[in-house]
Amino acid sequence: MEILLPDKEPLLSFLQDIIRIPSPSTKERGVVERVAEEMKRVGFAEVFIDEMGNVVGRIGSGGGKRLLYDAHTDTVGIGDPSAWSRDPYGAEIEEGVLYGRGAADNKGALAAMIYGAKSLIDAGLALIGDLYVVGTVQEEDCEGYAVGLLCRKVKPKAVVLGEPTNLQIARGQRGRVMLVVTVYGRSCHASTPELGLNAIYEMNKVVAGVKALNSKLAQHPLLGPGSIAVTRMESSSASLVAIPDRCQAHLDRRLTWGEDEELALAQVREIIQEKGVEAQVETMVYEARSHTGYPCRQRKYFPAWLLEEEHPLVQMGARAVKKALGYEPQIIGWRFSTDGVATKGELGIPTIGFGPGEEAHCHTTEDQARVEDLVKAARVYAQFALDFLGR
Ligand SMILES: [Zn+2]
Repeated sequence: MEILLPDKEPLLSFLQDIIRIPSPSTKERGVVERVAEEMKRVGFAEVFIDEMGNVVGRIGSGGGKRLLYDAHTDTVGIGDPSAWSRDPYGAEIEEGVLYGRGAADNKGALAAMIYGAKSLIDAGLALIGDLYVVGTVQEEDCEGYAVGLLCRKVKPKAVVLGEPTNLQIARGQRGRVMLVVTVYGRSCHASTPELGLNAIYEMNKVVAGVKALNSKLAQHPLLGPGSIAVTRMESSSASLVAIPDRCQAHLDRRLTWGEDEELALAQVREIIQEKGVEAQVETMVYEARSHTGYPCRQRKYFPAWLLEEEHPLVQMGARAVKKALGYEPQIIGWRFSTDGVATKGELGIPTIGFGPGEEAHCHTTEDQARVEDLVKAARVYAQFALDFLGR
């Protein structure tokens, strides 16, 4: 099948539009509505916003196999605006590069997916099955939650994530679990500290054990090692002249292949026991209301996921890149976490990643995507859908 060329100018001006609408997690309404409008304009067969507020567009025959393309509509904030050399919401194009919050993560891919689908619509190619293009919400705060909810309904056979791969194919990532350790002490007047039990000193023992745990964690050749870090600590005491009776530490635990929540909790419990500290560890809980008011709640556990390099979906992705762009893509693992934690990690749906932009630019003041790469990504999204849903 012949390569399809997406329209560059409308793709770019649409992307500029959605970068100019700020969309922090749970406040994506403006972008979601703009995306829905664009999907309708370019001729998607069905466009809707689901109960959580994801924007969903479908093209295809309305029956048979389902393929789902996922890019998220929310972005992280911009931090100190003066740290940016350009307007973070300006979406300026300079020497073939489009700059702005979300250009790499993840609005560039969303625009490319929609224009990839448009080139299929314009060519009038009949698909056997359906392509769903989805702009999910709240990925930055709780990856997987929104797409997981949708996938339970749509039941796709495969998922392609648009997170930045610099036009290579990703086949997995480490998972993560967010833990909170609470240590209990015994308060007394700070003038006689020997009469109490200082919860901060007790926590120090746990922290030392946590730091040492890093060298004992599992390794994986593609995904890298498991890791653990203390990311926040707070104590409470009756006053600044009282010994603290409670101290809490937050732990960011990255899980490599073969590690899970249960193991992570058991390892920290072992440290607590070894150090003889009175403490407990548990998984944090995500709670939020989406922009439609949908109540979200789940443990902050995001499983690692991986497809074999030989998996048909990975190979199909590599072939689509070769056909559309003429080179053999590298097969990579992501360092960060994505919606794949739900699609593959939780639901077992074969998932790969392919997107414009570079991982190194995500969440930075240099958020950007090369214009040519946006067009190239759209070609690959069109080609892959055609290969997956063609005859
Ligand atoms: Zn992202």
